[in-house]
Amino acid sequence: MNAIFDGIILGAGHNALILQAYLSRCGLKTLSLDRAPIPGGGLTTIENPRLPGFRHNPHSFFHRAITAMPWYGDLELERHGVRYLEPKLNVTMILRDGRALEWWTDLDRTVASCAEFSTRDADTLRRLAEEFRPIVEKILLPEAQSPPLEPALRRRLLERSALGRRLLEISALSPLEFVTRHFENDAVRAGLLFFNGLREVDLRLKGFGHSIPALLASRSKAQMAVGGSAALAQGLVADITRHGGEIRCGIELRGILVGSGRASGVELTTGEQIHASGFVASGLNPQQTFLDLMPAEAVPASVREKAAEFQYNLLAPLFGLHLALDEPPRYAASANHPELNDAFMVIVGLERFGQFHEIVAAHERGEIPSPVAWGACPTLFDSSQALSGKHTAFLWEKLPCALRGDPSNWAREKDAHGARLLKLWSELAPNLGRGVIRDQFVLSPADTEITLPNMRHGDLLVGSFANNQVGYHRPFAGAGCYRTPVPGLYLCGGSTHPGGNITGLCGYNAARVIAADLGKRIWWNPPDAEQALAAL
Ligand SMILES: Cc1cc2nc3c(=O)[nH]c(=O)nc-3n(C[C@H](O)[C@H](O)[C@H](O)COP(=O)(O)OP(=O)(O)OC[C@H]3O[C@@H](n4cnc5c(N)ncnc54)[C@H](O)[C@@H]3O)c2cc1C
Repeated sequence: MNAIFDGIILGAGHNALILQAYLSRCGLKTLSLDRAPIPGGGLTTIENPRLPGFRHNPHSFFHRAITAMPWYGDLELERHGVRYLEPKLNVTMILRDGRALEWWTDLDRTVASCAEFSTRDADTLRRLAEEFRPIVEKILLPEAQSPPLEPALRRRLLERSALGRRLLEISALSPLEFVTRHFENDAVRAGLLFFNGLREVDLRLKGFGHSIPALLASRSKAQMAVGGSAALAQGLVADITRHGGEIRCGIELRGILVGSGRASGVELTTGEQIHASGFVASGLNPQQTFLDLMPAEAVPASVREKAAEFQYNLLAPLFGLHLALDEPPRYAASANHPELNDAFMVIVGLERFGQFHEIVAAHERGEIPSPVAWGACPTLFDSSQALSGKHTAFLWEKLPCALRGDPSNWAREKDAHGARLLKLWSELAPNLGRGVIRDQFVLSPADTEITLPNMRHGDLLVGSFANNQVGYHRPFAGAGCYRTPVPGLYLCGGSTHPGGNITGLCGYNAARVIAADLGKRIWWNPPDAEQALAAL
């Protein structure tokens, strides 16, 4: 085969699929290629091979604010069968003494829960959530939904308004400094830092002091896809194929072809060459893109160096324990808090602020800290993910990928660690120890890297925000804003702005840049960060 496409996209993770859907709707002939047997990357739902009818989500599950994302409407995903739920008791941290710190979709109820721990912290939480709402809506959202602004221009624009100056002031802190400065109660501080850890990862990183108040202020919270996370991928695939795009899975890439100084296609390990007249966009990480797949002579030495130095998060890799159950976990704390039976995301093992220091130190040593984990029972909200009346549930824990310096240690130790995690879970949800488990399996951080090699070292965020790998300079100076120093080659995965997680915004923003470079009409109505900041 010697087919010619307008554009080829490497990897068919959700960012790549969103990019492809927009460009297919521009009338471009597109092809995405993935080594996995099915498209979706971190949007996977598998049927339990030992218990047909039980479905598990081995990668992403909590999808934040998906229905508020611009691409969700633009790509008419609900017409393609995608449906999301946003449970009201959105997050809860269950303590051993039976108390629970609860984040509701309704701010008043969150504040009331916080007041059971500290009335001062409850007041602060309300004040910050209300203060940050316009910062989120007028600054942070347009910024995430646009190609990033050049840092000096961004600062100049932000310094012109009170809202902008307040954002700069809070951002200058690390999440750790933000929490210790504003909150007093140990459990509240721990819960808020946990929130931060879910999105921004390194709590010591200055420049991210705003991430916790931004999460408190966002109108949309954690959501789940009905039918499992793969349902979102299926909706994207439906839109792509409806608009003429093609997706090929189960391929192995040998390299990106370069002709007349431009990225001009790809070669597969079978020797097949596929040509692209307009662009090649990579949803893979910088090492894969610039070092593994590009001929060395086609990439400037300085770019190869920067790609080699691209850093990954120490505190992102996840260990997962997945259960198939006869009944949902029933928490002992529900005796005092019956609402816990309908809680969405549940945090267990977190009691004190100081545990974060212990967790960071254990990761630095490559060791397992005492467990702090979070998860859900999807079937409480979506019965389609198990047989009638039955349930699935999972817990995740942040653990080092290189266990005691070597990821291969996980093969020997993962089952024993799963048993330890289950013990913690059963202490809080005693019915899990009473024969309700029909099947269980674990996935280690090393398994993540094997399944999704773009998540190097198991970093599910595909690159840290340290090392100046943020905004305009993500993944690195000279390759930010989705264009690379190689003509015709673009980036569109989690290693670009605004970063990993299921946001789709890397692909959404890349679509605008590529469509503009190819002279295509932007048929959608994307926000403009520069205008938004200038209008503050
Ligand atoms: C255990 C776990 C839990 C998570 N939980 C959440 C969550 O609850 N909420 C959330 O928002 N995020 C979560 N994430 C993170 C989220 O899944 C990722 O950040 C997101 O999937 C990144 O999207 P992407 O489109 O950049 O790439 P990916 O989704 O990683 O897709 C990349 C694609 O590239 C393909 N690929 C890789 N290498 C090659 C190659 N050499 N050749 C061809 N194809 C290749 C892969 O097969 C994959 O399909 C989780 C991740 C993991 C691992």
